[in-house]
Amino acid sequence: MAINETHDPNLKSWVESANDPTTDFPIQNLPFVAFRRPDEQEAWVHSRLGIRIGDRVIDIWALAERGLLDEGAFAHDLSTFETGPLGSALTRDTGARELHELRRQVRNLLHADTQRLHRDGSARERAVLAADSLAWCTPFDPPDYTDFYASIHHATTVGSMFRPDNALLPNYKWVPIGYHGRASSIVVGGTDIRRPIGQQAPPDDRPTQPPTVGPSKMLDYELEVGAFIGPGNDLGKPIPIGDAEKHIFGLCLVNDWSARDLQKWEYQPLGPFLAKNFATTISPYVVTLEALEPFRCPAFRRPDSDPRPLPYLLDEQNQARGGIDLTLEVWLRSAEMERRGMSAVRISRSNAFKDLYWTLGQLVAHHASNGCNLRPGDLIASGTVSGPEPGTRGCMLESTWQGRGPDGKPLPRKPIELPTGEKRTFLEDGDEVTLRGYCERDGFRRVGFGECRGKVLPARA
Ligand code: CA
Repeated sequence: MAINETHDPNLKSWVESANDPTTDFPIQNLPFVAFRRPDEQEAWVHSRLGIRIGDRVIDIWALAERGLLDEGAFAHDLSTFETGPLGSALTRDTGARELHELRRQVRNLLHADTQRLHRDGSARERAVLAADSLAWCTPFDPPDYTDFYASIHHATTVGSMFRPDNALLPNYKWVPIGYHGRASSIVVGGTDIRRPIGQQAPPDDRPTQPPTVGPSKMLDYELEVGAFIGPGNDLGKPIPIGDAEKHIFGLCLVNDWSARDLQKWEYQPLGPFLAKNFATTISPYVVTLEALEPFRCPAFRRPDSDPRPLPYLLDEQNQARGGIDLTLEVWLRSAEMERRGMSAVRISRSNAFKDLYWTLGQLVAHHASNGCNLRPGDLIASGTVSGPEPGTRGCMLESTWQGRGPDGKPLPRKPIELPTGEKRTFLEDGDEVTLRGYCERDGFRRVGFGECRGKVLPARA
């Protein structure tokens, strides 16, 4: 991929809100989305495939019905695009290419100098919808979900909580650490999250007591970025590192909700299970790698004393531009703030995504290196993205951690203070967490990921 005319900052749309410099969704972005129209809210109705621009969503099937898409440019008939999610379109060899062609045609229809859709009042009414009138659906129904641990700052801070003298385990700089998550509980942003109930360890000073069972008292969010797989690979056939990005269709934001007390008791020796699989929230939009092209940057520069990646994870192109310069934020609003009409407050912001120890390409190549087959729509998440400083951390486990005192014991957690005077070391019922992500660079339009939002409901009685 290269910078081309679609990244031209002077491109404008007749959708006026797309020309606002602060929008996440200029004509240079055009992410895919799956949604329900206001007149089609019943759960049995298939979601529709759309493309977001400014404060509007373009209903792809409505364009096709009005003959506004050039059917001849697609290898298959347009019915592939009749419904979201995107997975069915991608199961064919040509699927990713056809979705890019679709995006290209929609861009042409939305261009400020193009009249066909703009001047056709009835088609516009049917196909150009107010985004805030729609219900979001998952843009893919991921067949599988894998979560990595690629932020070295996150791994170092969390590791130091358990092993003060030896924060990173010896494998970290050699092998991308990951685990298989649960796809069935992936929900789209805006879905409420029920506080999980589960086993919690006996108190440290009474380790022979039985564990308790109850609502998690240490519910946390994890700020992550997800990559949706486009074309998959056959079982037994690895993906070479040089081809890895061809298998990524686009990116979203991920909140990997985590119950720390359940996690602490259950995670050894096999890793996360019920502490994680009760819910994972993804943002509604799939931002394509093409739209992110102006924001590519070199992979994290490892200190000279660190090992070089092993040959199957090493690629010149990947080192030169495997990173993405993406700003990530976490916002929080308590029930009390909502009641008083206050807006959310930002509790974290970082640029640390470009400092992942392993690039997305390396994660994909490693995942398939043993012959594991990735399938269209699979979700590969980065792991919590954290910077080294307070205020740049991607979960409360880290952001309220104060390290250890002179006696070697952990200091009390430092709560986050909200404008109401409320304090948080972990999430309370009614708290709403919103993740945001956006790319900005001089000479280009801002490209954003929208919001990944979820509110915590009380545990089931
Ligand atoms: Ca995670």
